[in-house]
Amino acid sequence: MFAISDLNIGSYTPVGDIIALSLCIIMVILVKQTYIRKEKSRFFIIMHILAFMLIVASANIFMQTYIVKETVSPPFIYIMRMLHHVFLSMTMFLYIRYVQGSLWLLPKDKKRSRIAIAVIILSAITLDIILSVFKVGFYINKKHEYSAGLDCFEILYIVFTVNIIYMLIKYRKRLLIKVFTGLISVLVMSNLLLCIQSIFKQISYTTICCLLPMISIIFLFHSNPYNTDTGAVSSEFFAQEVKENLAKGNEMVIMCCHIPGFSVYIAKSPVLKTEFMDFFRVNIKKSILYSFPNDSFVLTFTKQKNSDYEKLVDRMLGNFAMSYAKFKIDYKIIIMESSDSVIDVNDYHNIIEYNDLKMPFNTVVRITPEDIKEYYDKNYILSQLEDIAARKDLSDPRILVYCQPVLNINTGQYDTAEALMRLKLEKTGMVFPDQFIPIAEKFNLIHNLSMIILNKTCAALKRFIEDGYIIKRISVNFSAIDLRYDSFCDEVKGIIESNGIEYGKIAVEITESRSDADFNLMKQRVMQLQDLGIKFYLDDFGTGYSNFERIMEIPFDIIKFDRSLLIESLKNSSSQYMVKTFANMFHELKYSILFEGVENEYDEDRCKLMMAQYLQGYKYSKPIPIEELTKFLLHV
Ligand code: C2E
Ligand code: CA
Ligand code: CA
Repeated sequence: MFAISDLNIGSYTPVGDIIALSLCIIMVILVKQTYIRKEKSRFFIIMHILAFMLIVASANIFMQTYIVKETVSPPFIYIMRMLHHVFLSMTMFLYIRYVQGSLWLLPKDKKRSRIAIAVIILSAITLDIILSVFKVGFYINKKHEYSAGLDCFEILYIVFTVNIIYMLIKYRKRLLIKVFTGLISVLVMSNLLLCIQSIFKQISYTTICCLLPMISIIFLFHSNPYNTDTGAVSSEFFAQEVKENLAKGNEMVIMCCHIPGFSVYIAKSPVLKTEFMDFFRVNIKKSILYSFPNDSFVLTFTKQKNSDYEKLVDRMLGNFAMSYAKFKIDYKIIIMESSDSVIDVNDYHNIIEYNDLKMPFNTVVRITPEDIKEYYDKNYILSQLEDIAARKDLSDPRILVYCQPVLNINTGQYDTAEALMRLKLEKTGMVFPDQFIPIAEKFNLIHNLSMIILNKTCAALKRFIEDGYIIKRISVNFSAIDLRYDSFCDEVKGIIESNGIEYGKIAVEITESRSDADFNLMKQRVMQLQDLGIKFYLDDFGTGYSNFERIMEIPFDIIKFDRSLLIESLKNSSSQYMVKTFANMFHELKYSILFEGVENEYDEDRCKLMMAQYLQGYKYSKPIPIEELTKFLLHV
């Protein structure tokens, strides 16, 4: 009924193990109920750790409680003790494996490392049995007296602990400082608790000391911040949840509401806060609300759980319209349903973002299959543009030069033309500038394209001249980004020279720039290249900005009046007077005027009344492949 040696074994009450048991159960419930990251392999480890700890605590309670009861047979005690130790060491191994994963130290050969772990645990079991047989380790004698003796598992635990602390300190740079501090503090705290219990000759808190570090990894690596103002969880978990639902065969509805500055508004207005909460909580079953960094909120739910989802969405939009009438805060709402044509779960948010950029404020957009296709096409175009830029091939076959002849009113001939770029790609076929120029500019890939088009235009000019065609020049469009390159002038010169044509055969078309820096650069480039004979056209005059004083500072050769001015001049007599005055002014100042977008005879007549020297538009020709320009040229 009593221990052989009181020094050998501490006193035990089940308090610690019962707390450990309850903590495990609480953690399982919390993990199930909260929005934490549940990536497969790492989360799998966590769930195993919690399950093993349940066994560890229960086995210890049984062993320690029944060890003092003579009626219970010793093999039961031995089995319980062994269960406790084996599962505790497996838990520790899992913990080490988990931390190794976070420190990028996972063993390459997982099978071998699993065998090594099994060998270590089996050796410890064997050694423990041997120690018990020789009465050096834990044993119970015939009188039901027991001794703790030498415990080889304890040595294993010390090795584990030293190993984990050493690993953490050695590779601490691979962890966020907060995570490192968190892990180390909890380990220190648990070991301190172990020391304190040994001072008091206690063994009740061993299990709980081992559970604490396991809980810390759930907090540190899996917690998902929850915003109490909006009830939204961080976006990190979004893709994972969508993926899990799709894997289960669930169809999803994803609703995004983008309200710039929302976090500021909501902090100020409790009324807005309540309204917002109500908006996203309209009877939707199992919905989750995510907050994305740019003040976007994304609500997800499954169609299966909400069979009347269409009505729900309509009701939400109705409520939202009422809130908008009250608060007048700008918004964009995008509704998307899961679709087989979405390749990667992350694309759901990318497609939403892509459409968000395109749509106006205070509208609702439902993503259609065409929108998804457009998104993938844009991505494909972008990857092709990146490839074109990387190859640096000035004759890249994917870039085509189209040309639109320009009528010279003085001579009645087509002696100049404008080069217009097209992309011809394997998957999409012909791509027009409005589909790729904005992408190329956004991703800084335009410069390569400009140089390719310039090179191909020069090469075509060379052929026309050699074949005896009369052509004064062809204008090439450049972007403000091109002018920012210090090498711009040298590159343009180099390409013209290498094609063996005169500088004057090329004209540069640029649109007016709003920024001072770009305007000054433009001025500089014009001065540098005009001396060589290269002509400069101001493109799209009349669209948007048009700062006269500024334009006069740059000695352009030709001002291109945009088609919108021609349309404007149709409206009434005062608009016509305004356009005519512009034209007269430029004419007086010795600029030549080109009208773009001349579509019919009526357009042509009006342009002629407005000092036009050059005419360009569908009336004469649509853009054609540059080779076909010869149809419009005179032959010597
Ligand atoms: P842009 O420089 O103003 O070019 C004229 C556009 O008007 C061309 O569209 C042309 O097809 C179209 N157009 C010609 N005649 C008519 C007409 O009678 N009526 C109407 N409604 N439109 C007419 P495109 O080829 O689609 O080019 C669109 C824009 O893309 C160009 O506008 C230019 O800003 C840009 N772009 C084209 N090629 C290049 C290039 O090589 N480099 C750069 N940076 N931009 C280019
Ligand atoms: Ca142009
Ligand atoms: Ca234009």
